[in-house]
Amino acid sequence: MAEGCSQRGGLALVGPAAGAPTCPHGPTLLFVKFSQGKEEGRRFYACSACRDRKDCNFFQWEDEKVSHTRLAAREEYNRSHQPSFTHRQNVERYKSFVQLPLSKRRFCQECQQLLLPAEWEKHSDHQFLCDISTAQLKSPSQLLYPLENKKTNAQYLFADRTCQFLLNLLTDLGFRRVLSVGTPRLHELIQSKASQEDFRVRSLLLDIDFRYSQFYTEDEFCHYNMFNHYFFGGEAARDTCRKFLDEDNGEKVIMVTDPPFGGLVEALASSFKKLMEMWKETGKPGHDNKEMPMFWIFPYFFECRILDCFPSFNMMDYQVDYDNHALYKHGKTGRRQSPVRIFTNLTPSVIVLPVEEGYRFCTICQRYVSSGNQHCEICNSCTSKDGRRWKHCVLCKKCVKPSWFHCNSCNCCALQTHSCEQTDAGCFVCGKAGHKRSACPSVSHTRTACQDDKKKGHKTQKGVKMGISKRSAMKRAIFSRKKVKNKKKEA
Ligand code: SAH
Ligand code: ZN
Ligand code: ZN
Ligand code: ZN
Ligand code: ZN
Repeated sequence: MAEGCSQRGGLALVGPAAGAPTCPHGPTLLFVKFSQGKEEGRRFYACSACRDRKDCNFFQWEDEKVSHTRLAAREEYNRSHQPSFTHRQNVERYKSFVQLPLSKRRFCQECQQLLLPAEWEKHSDHQFLCDISTAQLKSPSQLLYPLENKKTNAQYLFADRTCQFLLNLLTDLGFRRVLSVGTPRLHELIQSKASQEDFRVRSLLLDIDFRYSQFYTEDEFCHYNMFNHYFFGGEAARDTCRKFLDEDNGEKVIMVTDPPFGGLVEALASSFKKLMEMWKETGKPGHDNKEMPMFWIFPYFFECRILDCFPSFNMMDYQVDYDNHALYKHGKTGRRQSPVRIFTNLTPSVIVLPVEEGYRFCTICQRYVSSGNQHCEICNSCTSKDGRRWKHCVLCKKCVKPSWFHCNSCNCCALQTHSCEQTDAGCFVCGKAGHKRSACPSVSHTRTACQDDKKKGHKTQKGVKMGISKRSAMKRAIFSRKKVKNKKKEA
């Protein structure tokens, strides 16, 4: 996905490297700069989780010799940048908190922390909420600020309808355990229903947002980094996850994940494969030649890159909606199109999409499709990716967006207003033909120091402690830069 300043080259992920140095977010990843199809300059290690230098400024050249003193300092730094309370301490604090009468239950908004009366003094000049009810404690995603720092956390919470839809879908499919990776709201919905007698679904939340450890026990939440498969809680947490994946009583497991859209698809895929591996290693009959069922929620324009990593996956037409996403939520005035989809390794025909919302079953494709998605006789498939009706181009031999026309000098379809480019020159980044720089699969396009970030200048001091950054007044949605840059092409 194209993101960032056009004047810089791309950054490619070389991969999680054995013996990579660690930052407070676990093992770092190895990156390299690409320019005009060539690796340019030295490879370097940088933080896997934070795509903003302000959140984690770890940097080391691959071939750099690091002195003992610097190593020791780094270890000390990593230690001191862990959250101020451990998960265990937070669980104990929660127990004390719920014993308090309502009038003594305070939540500090500044520190994003439940306060015990002895701590009020310390937070006296912070804003806080009073009378925290049990209902509020059961909906931490409403109590906590969504982290909207788009480079690092970008928390976009599911709209109720989407969350309910996902839960109904997976219970109808017979799943009784949900590994919720970066889906706190789905986890919360499942937890809140757990007290109902006829509800038997359980969930384990894996998320980098340590604030959730204030509300969930070690069996319900693991502090986890999905870009490097790192369990902050070490072997004990890893074990919790392993046990959860071990299906006793034939309770089927599904993993649901909704990662930040910043790219690094390959890093995510590598972690998800490790989680799948954990599932397989439980040694349950039937696991050895199967994959752990999974829903990976991600924008449709990442389809190629996801399918490259997971050839067994298919993209569903369902449009995932968010509450706090400026662009992708349903307005009161009607439906806005969301580009976010479900990728799954389950058979497409079993993913039943709501007919009330206009989805219909295509008997030829054997899957549910958007109302506007027409079956193309020539492609023999329902070809729309964005929900609008696409049209077939005989010259391109495929369906294209409704706003595109075939351009004879470019020899492909594009917007009528496009400026013709020589396509046989190949991709500016990797040199291969068939795609442009903006679609280059070898580039992560994520880690940049763009003007955009410099302008923002959000505070992170306290955030670093909690593993979070403060809510930044992020008005523009995550895709805004791509939108601007590719407006002509995309429309
Ligand atoms: N739609 C989901 C939230 C998705 S937002 C819901 O409503 O439940 C992305 C989520 O991934 C956030 O919860 C965020 O804290 C988490 N996240 C971001 N970076 C992460 C990382 N490196 N490792 C694990 N989780 C991460
Ligand atoms: Zn880091
Ligand atoms: Zn069809
Ligand atoms: Zn077609
Ligand atoms: Zn053209």
